[in-house]
Amino acid sequence: MLMVTVADYNVKERPQWCPGCGNFALAGALRNALAELGIEPHQTVISSGIGCSGKLPHYVMSYGFEGLHGRTLPVASGIKLANPKLTVIAVGGDGDGYGIGAGHFLHIMRRNYDLTYIVHDNQVYGLTTGQASPTSQLGMKTKTTPYGVVETPFNPLAAAITGGATFVARAFAGDMAHTKEIFKQAIAHRGFALVDVFQPCVTFNRLNTYEFFTKRIYKLETQNPKHDTSNKMLALEKAFEQMASNYERLPIGVFYKEERQTFEDTLPQIKEKTLLEQDISNVDISAAYEDMM
Ligand code: SF4
Repeated sequence: MLMVTVADYNVKERPQWCPGCGNFALAGALRNALAELGIEPHQTVISSGIGCSGKLPHYVMSYGFEGLHGRTLPVASGIKLANPKLTVIAVGGDGDGYGIGAGHFLHIMRRNYDLTYIVHDNQVYGLTTGQASPTSQLGMKTKTTPYGVVETPFNPLAAAITGGATFVARAFAGDMAHTKEIFKQAIAHRGFALVDVFQPCVTFNRLNTYEFFTKRIYKLETQNPKHDTSNKMLALEKAFEQMASNYERLPIGVFYKEERQTFEDTLPQIKEKTLLEQDISNVDISAAYEDMM
């Protein structure tokens, strides 16, 4: 295996994100995680939807696909089915992935594709200049909620723990070293891994700032007794702590993980060879076309 360094994942282009945005650290953590895992850039594919997070594939030197709003997971799962040998990472935003993409999120999780899903959770729609998103904090004033958010925020960690994800974690873009370690564990995990990242949007979210998170965050792995990542009920309790404590205690780290057969493992069609490696010269799909006429 070739020696992979973070320089192999760097791009020359300067990211088009606002100065101070949490996305810079998130992208840096991902580049370092991939390099430290020794995964070569040509074996990595990153798919994204639309939003500030959607630009991430442009800033990591690997294969990438920037698709439609909320559709990063169908694209990522299609890539994985075509060639399960690839390391496939889907990225999205809280509006993108937990709003319009919520249906995909629920169903892809329960299938347990071997994918890593990183969500840039800035609790606001950033690219469209500051509307409330599914994870916006109760009471937060935005362009679309001038009197404050009244809807209960979506809880992505609880949804993932109960929805069939086999690795569920949260990170904070203000701690790049810790985020990198979480990414490494998520990518190395065989199965569907969600990493929801608190990613301060310094331009449109003046409530959930770096300072806000730094005062409230604690790491699950430093708790005494240590958090048991195999305990689903405990993981759920931790997932609800944010709301239960009225945003005063925000756990980060690995909440839950389990080993389970992946969707790809159940498919006899790709047991011997990937779809990419199969000879399709004798495949005749004309009957399927005629059915559609
Ligand atoms: Fe980052 Fe917010 Fe600027 Fe988007 S709008 S680049 S999320 S700071």
